[in-house]
Amino acid sequence: MSITVPALATPSAGAAFARTTVERRELGEHDVLLDIAYAGICHSDIHQARGEWGASIFPMVPGHEIAGVVRAVGDGVTKHAVGDRVGVGCFIDSCRECPNCLAGEEQFCERGNVATYNDRYADGAPTYGGYSTQIVVDENYVLGIPEGISLDVAAPLLCAGITTYSPLKHWGAGPGVKVAVVGMGGLGHLAVKIAHALGAEVTVLSHTLSKKEDGLRFGADHYETGDRDTLRRLRGSFDLIINTVSADLPVDAYLRTLALDGTMVFVGAPENKQQFAAFSLIGGRRSLAGSNIGGIRETQEMLDFCAKHGIGAEIETITADDVDKAYDRVVASDVRYRFVIDTATIPA
Ligand code: NAP
Ligand code: ZN
Ligand code: ZN
Repeated sequence: MSITVPALATPSAGAAFARTTVERRELGEHDVLLDIAYAGICHSDIHQARGEWGASIFPMVPGHEIAGVVRAVGDGVTKHAVGDRVGVGCFIDSCRECPNCLAGEEQFCERGNVATYNDRYADGAPTYGGYSTQIVVDENYVLGIPEGISLDVAAPLLCAGITTYSPLKHWGAGPGVKVAVVGMGGLGHLAVKIAHALGAEVTVLSHTLSKKEDGLRFGADHYETGDRDTLRRLRGSFDLIINTVSADLPVDAYLRTLALDGTMVFVGAPENKQQFAAFSLIGGRRSLAGSNIGGIRETQEMLDFCAKHGIGAEIETITADDVDKAYDRVVASDVRYRFVIDTATIPA
């Protein structure tokens, strides 16, 4: 029997959230039922709930930064047990057969993975995410949250953490590597902490100096603004730029802050097309790249890394009634540094 669980849904693009219920499927042989304790609010939730990335499925229950405790497991489950502290990130299934899935890069599944929300299961039923009290997920797409990180500060690691950890590792952030993090919001503040823990020299490029003290506390070595004069002064400086900005950027000015062979990686996914001049790349054999969350194996590696280094998100915990207000504050860059919904406040 499927179960009916409380959730927060938005009925149409940009509409207010309201309490509702959704169905979770009957526990299959390899399924895990988890009690969700906290769900982070990612800017991607806002892009999708407001229809900024094209067609969205409504009603929508967003949430792909999920942390909770296992309530029940199917007969064939071996990876998780009742009582385990676990997390679920941006996808809940993939084909498991294509070269990318086999390589542990399920985020690039050739047949398209099944996103935690705003997507459909194979039978066409919509997926509903973490702004809810319980969820059923195949054990292979459930992560273990190590002891030493509490569930509230762990939740944002399931998207913001892995989305920054993966490119930092892929492009070799470490001792002697100069990394710039553009935008210090949910993703950006974790990028700073992780890059610092990896041993890189970290510079934040923010559109304001108002978060400078925080940035230095998170491990940044330098904190600058992205204004024209500063970017000109910083030309040729960085080996790697992680761009987490959700809005339009003067891409050329940032590309020119890269040193020879440097790479600028977009993880921020703004609504509009971005522009750059070929000469900004040609001038220093530079690369412009993108990165999408991370695979299951790397997500577990990231959680273990964060536990070892004492890294959690900086959070503001909110109730179910505060979500609309929180969305506006995220868009206004007025969040320190991730909103996390206490899902105990969702039931009517
Ligand atoms: P966020 O908390 O809103 O942070 C974005 C930051 O960008 C802000 O804190 C702000 O930093 C900067 N910013 C915002 N508006 C700006 C503007 N108009 N001009 C200049 N800077 C501005 O968002 P997030 O949750 O970290 O997500 C960031 C982006 O990454 C979103 O587009 C999201 O959809 C995307 N994302 C991508 C992936 C992926 O796999 N690639 C995964 C998750 C999220 P400062 O105040 O420091 O300037
Ligand atoms: Zn996200
Ligand atoms: Zn696949």
